Amino acid sequence: MPNEDKQPATADSFDVIVIGGGPAGYPAAIRAAQNKLSVACIDEWKNHDGSAAFGGTCLNAGCIPSKALLESSELFHRVQEEFATHGIKVSGTTLDLAQMQKRKSGIVRTMTQGILALFKAAGVTPLQGHGKLLAGRKVEFTAHDGKRRLLSAKQVVLASGSAPIELRSAPFKSPEIVDSWGALEFESVPKRLAVIGAGVIGLELGSVWRRLGSEVVMLEALPEFLAIADQQLAKEALRHFKKQGLDIRLGAKVTGATPGTGGVQVTYEDAKGVQQLTVDRVVVAVGRRPFTQDLLAADSGVQLDERGFIKVDDTCRTGVEGVWAIGDCVRGPMLAHKGKEEGVMVADLIAGLYGETNYKVIPSVIYTAPEIAWVGLTEEQVKASGRAYKVGVFPFLASGRARAMEQAAGFAKVVAARDDDEILGVHIVGPLAGELIAEAVLAMEYSASTEDLQRTIHAHPTLAEAVHEAALAADKRAIDSINR
Ligand code: FAD
Ligand code: NAD
Repeated sequence: MPNEDKQPATADSFDVIVIGGGPAGYPAAIRAAQNKLSVACIDEWKNHDGSAAFGGTCLNAGCIPSKALLESSELFHRVQEEFATHGIKVSGTTLDLAQMQKRKSGIVRTMTQGILALFKAAGVTPLQGHGKLLAGRKVEFTAHDGKRRLLSAKQVVLASGSAPIELRSAPFKSPEIVDSWGALEFESVPKRLAVIGAGVIGLELGSVWRRLGSEVVMLEALPEFLAIADQQLAKEALRHFKKQGLDIRLGAKVTGATPGTGGVQVTYEDAKGVQQLTVDRVVVAVGRRPFTQDLLAADSGVQLDERGFIKVDDTCRTGVEGVWAIGDCVRGPMLAHKGKEEGVMVADLIAGLYGETNYKVIPSVIYTAPEIAWVGLTEEQVKASGRAYKVGVFPFLASGRARAMEQAAGFAKVVAARDDDEILGVHIVGPLAGELIAEAVLAMEYSASTEDLQRTIHAHPTLAEAVHEAALAADKRAIDSINR
């Protein structure tokens, strides 16, 4: 569609209708409006108290509330475990979980209401209720009060997100067995907590409740810890998590979880046979599935793949003229920033502008302590590709800033090609790894070499120097650590 002036929208017709107002959908709507198109964004999210809110999983029940609790629980932990080392004596520290949860809910409320303010400023029409794509780019909108309207659009963007996977062996049928949203809303600290799945959600939420005092057992089906991550990174992280008291059991396949008077009896099988465990609460965090329930009329023409994702090409076109799909409901990592990038790309392409998503350079961050972050290929992936490579590692123990922060665990690691020095992957486990990775993302976006990083001045003393030194170490030219 040419970048013409915004079409005057009649009550029922728009240039663009976005279905889903999460981190994929709402940026798509805002960018489309910035591109002078008339836009409506439909979202059906309802909170446990019945209130409607834009922001999807990420703002209401994912990224934001989990990070709020991670921050609060880490402070609680550090007051008790670390302050004395700094020479700060604190006595009588107590937990006010109700206040912690209130702070979290306040942040969520402010952020989700912020989307409405952004919509107003950009000129996006917010529609709260259910959207269903019909044939011919018509959309049936059912408001939360049940009133229906038939809308039409020149372009429709589907951004319906994802939902937690339920285990047949541990269904969400009793209040003791919950998904990640439930685990963000506990009103008391469970004495004994089982987390099924030691992936991203399991590690983040397991950390929250461990720091607040729960005995946490994590049951992970795979024999490898964090199989998707660089294994040197995963090993280092596992060592720290174990020290924190997270009881991570690998190769453990859950076969049942039965609530009873004494707690939930969890049964699982590992290499030694059938095992049993009694806990007060169970969090199931075994992945998420695309959510497309009642999204598509039978004749909409949009296809799903065998795993339920909406089929799209590299630029998020569904194959039906003028219908696009973005975010967790399509292939690729289920990450808010990936969805946002796709949303912006699609809105620009619709307006006839340039747009692309670089799927090779999407950062991953796990907000534990130490934090874990990476971008690009793991050392294992580079090795398997057969390309000759070099590795530079710099430990935070040798970082003055990390020492000053009393957070010198972990390292930064750079994997680069031997032939042309291109950076292929950067892996960080350590303080603020999620912030540090941004430099590596930018470097890789520009196809930088380790020499480019080596010749870039990094302020001293900063944590970012660890990335600089890791790049130097790739050529055995690190200054502040011994080159091996
Ligand atoms: P969603 O956020 O799921 O939004 C989809 C929206 O569409 C929802 O509001 C839904 O109600 C609405 N909808 C669906 N169907 C319809 C319909 N037919 N009509 C109207 N509305 C509809 N990712 C990160 O990058 N960083 C993190 O730190 C992070 N932390 C997370 C922590 C947790 C506990 C969880 C569960 C997830 C986390 N994620 C994180 C993942 C992140 O939340 C998702 O990748 C992201 O929300 C996907 O965005 P989306 O817009 O595609 O879908
Ligand atoms: P995940 O894929 O990260 O982890 C699920 C884990 O459960 C895996 O390790 C898997 O091997 C294990 N598992 C699967 N079935 C099992 C079973 N029956 N018994 C025991 N273990 C089992 O998924 P998640 O942690 O549920 O997170 C879902 C999505 O949300 C992820 O794609 C993630 O990217 C996103 N998310 C991102 C962040 C972040 O960016 N910081 C935080 C939370 C969630």
